[in-house]
Amino acid sequence: MSSDHIAQTRSPEELERLADAAGRELEDAPALDVLRWAADTFGARFCVTSSMEDAVVAHLASRAFPGVDVVFLDTGYHFPETIGTRDAVAAVLDVNVITLTPRQTVAEQDAEHGPKLHDRDPDLCCALRKVQPLEEGLRAYDAWATGLRRDESPTRAGTPVVGWDAKRRKVKIAPIARWTQQDVDTYVAEHGVLTNPLLMDGYSSVGCAPCTRRILAGEDTRAGRWAGRGKTECGLHI
Ligand code: SF4
Repeated sequence: MSSDHIAQTRSPEELERLADAAGRELEDAPALDVLRWAADTFGARFCVTSSMEDAVVAHLASRAFPGVDVVFLDTGYHFPETIGTRDAVAAVLDVNVITLTPRQTVAEQDAEHGPKLHDRDPDLCCALRKVQPLEEGLRAYDAWATGLRRDESPTRAGTPVVGWDAKRRKVKIAPIARWTQQDVDTYVAEHGVLTNPLLMDGYSSVGCAPCTRRILAGEDTRAGRWAGRGKTECGLHI
């Protein structure tokens, strides 16, 4: 479904109150119940974002809200496997995949900022290729869900199941925030959920190709992202 034509009816203040109350009520709720609440409460002004590392939240959301919008950011730097996972999700699940793109192609960005901005200023590269397009894409929604989990890294340990995204003034939902990697693996196995093939090839977190490497034994799951650059998040979740 496309939400372009669905006008916003709740003020940011109402949305923040909703987020606070739901955050308390749904902290211990199963992921599917959290997504059903989001579907009932926000309808077409709710979407799921997916990095196409796996399709767990998209799969859960399709059960709670068939036809739900699944938003994917195509930075222009993805592995082919990630684009393939997106296309497979669109073909297999009852969801509406929406691909957001940056204002500039990689070639246009190279022309303006020089090549390999990701090596010289990854914060600017992420701002241009991830943060800005997501902010523009999320204008059509009051609430968005992500696949953030508390066990992924110390920076994500405090992720609320339902919280207030003060930066974007939207309700932000992390239905699997309390899940462990084992919970994810079990759900994938039980439901035959699509996963990015790179997860079987030494990667435990999949982002843009220039900024992602395989992890080493004992590293946390996001250690392969911007390794050695003192950066842990792209700016979408801070
Ligand atoms: S993850 Fe790397 S390539 Fe992707 S937008 Fe950020 S800096 Fe650029």
